[in-house]
Amino acid sequence: MGTSLNLGLLFETGFTVFCYISVALLGLLVGSFLNVCIYRIPNDESVVRPRSHCMKCGHTLGALDLVPVFSYLFLKGRCRYCGEKISPRYALVELLTSVVYLLLFWKYGLSVDFLASAYLMSVLIAVFFIDLDHMIIPNKLVVAALVGGVLPFVYNIFRPMDIYVDRKWWNPLLGAFIGFGFLLLVAIVGYLVYKTDEAMGGGDVKLFAPIGLFLGWKMTIVALFISFVSAGIVSIVLLLLKKKERRSTFVFGPFIVMGTFFTYLFGWELLEWYLSTLLHV
Ligand SMILES: [Zn+2]
Repeated sequence: MGTSLNLGLLFETGFTVFCYISVALLGLLVGSFLNVCIYRIPNDESVVRPRSHCMKCGHTLGALDLVPVFSYLFLKGRCRYCGEKISPRYALVELLTSVVYLLLFWKYGLSVDFLASAYLMSVLIAVFFIDLDHMIIPNKLVVAALVGGVLPFVYNIFRPMDIYVDRKWWNPLLGAFIGFGFLLLVAIVGYLVYKTDEAMGGGDVKLFAPIGLFLGWKMTIVALFISFVSAGIVSIVLLLLKKKERRSTFVFGPFIVMGTFFTYLFGWELLEWYLSTLLHV
């Protein structure tokens, strides 16, 4: 009796460890693909062809050069063929994707919620770096996120998703409407006040439609709240440190990405805390 119980426990622990390792490796692999997206999508290049090559010498990279993170460490951050330094950001994006996947798996376990959140966050990691580099959010990524948003939307009709809590079929649609609508309003007000369309970029507005689908309406409001508050705090700090001109353009995409990720991890807890502590509901 005792032995079989221990075996059961051993098997369960082994399976959990196996799952976490698989998720970490999947994150590294997807992160490696996201690197390709981050560098090629802004230049309108294909993310499939040609095969990855060194930016300096153009040598096509072999399988041994493309093992996420490990190749970078093994080659000490240099191209095997010409010795050119490779940006540590490639390895960073891979590690970051892996950590994001692990945290989502820790939160949602083996579930459709995990698959959906990992998909959205993958697209958003590409958005994060492209917006930082080029101050644009490519339509291709918005479309990729929208297409993926069909999964949680359809699944929710049949079985409840953790993130929506209720099973109302229109919940994700209302999320998309609120996210998109609110940012559109901010963009219009920004345009009227500052007479520039740079207060809120079109990419930011569009991006919140798929985020709304994935998060449902309540968590969309939480994500909007976190994105605006964190962007506001960072803006004020930058202004105080005089790192930024008052009217200079502000990259909002990365705050949307971080706000969405935080909402996936702690959105409901934050909402419940807010309702019980501040509103005494
Ligand atoms: Zn090279």
